[in-house]
Amino acid sequence: MTSSRALGACLCLCAFAADAAEVVHNRRLESGQTVAHALRASGLDDATTERVLSALEGVFEFRKARPGDQVRVVLSDGVLDFLDYRRGPQDEWLVRRDGDRLVAAKREIEVEKRLAVVELEVTSSIWEAALAAGEDPSIATDLADVFAWDIDFYRDVQRGDRARALIEKFVSKGRVLRYGDVLAASYVGSTVGKKRVFRYELPGGARSFFLEDGSSARKTFLKSPLKYAQLTSGFGMRFHPILNYVGAHNGVDYGTPVGTPVWAVADGTVLRAGWDKGGGNMICIRHFNSLETCYLHLSKLGDGVRPGARVSQKQVIGLSGSTGMSTGPHLHFALKRGGAFINPLSQKFPRADPVPADLRSDFAVKIAPLAARLDAVPVAAMGLVPEQPE
Ligand SMILES: [Zn+2]
Repeated sequence: MTSSRALGACLCLCAFAADAAEVVHNRRLESGQTVAHALRASGLDDATTERVLSALEGVFEFRKARPGDQVRVVLSDGVLDFLDYRRGPQDEWLVRRDGDRLVAAKREIEVEKRLAVVELEVTSSIWEAALAAGEDPSIATDLADVFAWDIDFYRDVQRGDRARALIEKFVSKGRVLRYGDVLAASYVGSTVGKKRVFRYELPGGARSFFLEDGSSARKTFLKSPLKYAQLTSGFGMRFHPILNYVGAHNGVDYGTPVGTPVWAVADGTVLRAGWDKGGGNMICIRHFNSLETCYLHLSKLGDGVRPGARVSQKQVIGLSGSTGMSTGPHLHFALKRGGAFINPLSQKFPRADPVPADLRSDFAVKIAPLAARLDAVPVAAMGLVPEQPE
């Protein structure tokens, strides 16, 4: 039978093969839609829909069906030939005819986890460096996340800086499906110097990043109030903060496009969240040691960010904007101690707890191979390296 598989995935398409009345329906589950809805919308009558659902019973978890899942129904002369249901690249179910019965099974898709060293050289931004290296640019946000306490990926990144990540890649049929965890990362830059971090699992299962000497990669405050996001602007944008200590306008201005995610630099409690004539949409958060941060001119406040709410470090609390008395898109960021403005760029914040003393030797043993992999000269530019046995 003529194959008619090369069909678009988003719309319900019908393709009639030349030699048989084969009809293929491709659909995506829409929000609020059940699997049954999608099957009926794909041309199955009620009786067949029922039979498909009972065949899937016990094989497929209907609760986990969600918008975006793909259903492909192949009818032959108006009768269901087979059907597949796809949820992401690794989860696929097949319902096929077996005599008069319909049988369902989960398809086994072989996915291999490999460790790979990804090396990026910055020409304009870390995002573009990832694209230039043929990687998924999400690795840029992964790196920014790992180094968030020491590197501001908007303003500290310079042309010629190099970043490396030892990262898990999930591969199927030679194609990288997605990244897994970052196990180690390094950054060498003209502004930030050399930074290396290693992931280590503490007793109890908590995983955290540490420097080579066992001190924590985390600090009480993040380096920047702007979460790194997809921005292709590179150095052209005015990301360099402008210190502005004139009159009541105390703080740092980060010129940034409207919509840049703003995150809480430290754990705390929201003191105020709402409209201010000068500050526009504005959020202030109280932290430990009578420290307080404020984020002004936002285009949007995050859900649930209201006075009294607890927020955690790295939580996106809003999006940058140009509301209130603002001459252009920017984030005004202010830090106070005991009610008095202080310069956020010159503060030194303490690191979180280091690797406990009794685990230091285990830590050293565990990170040694990671360090060796991270620092090794890559064999091929971006080649995949098979995972080594533990
Ligand atoms: Zn300002």
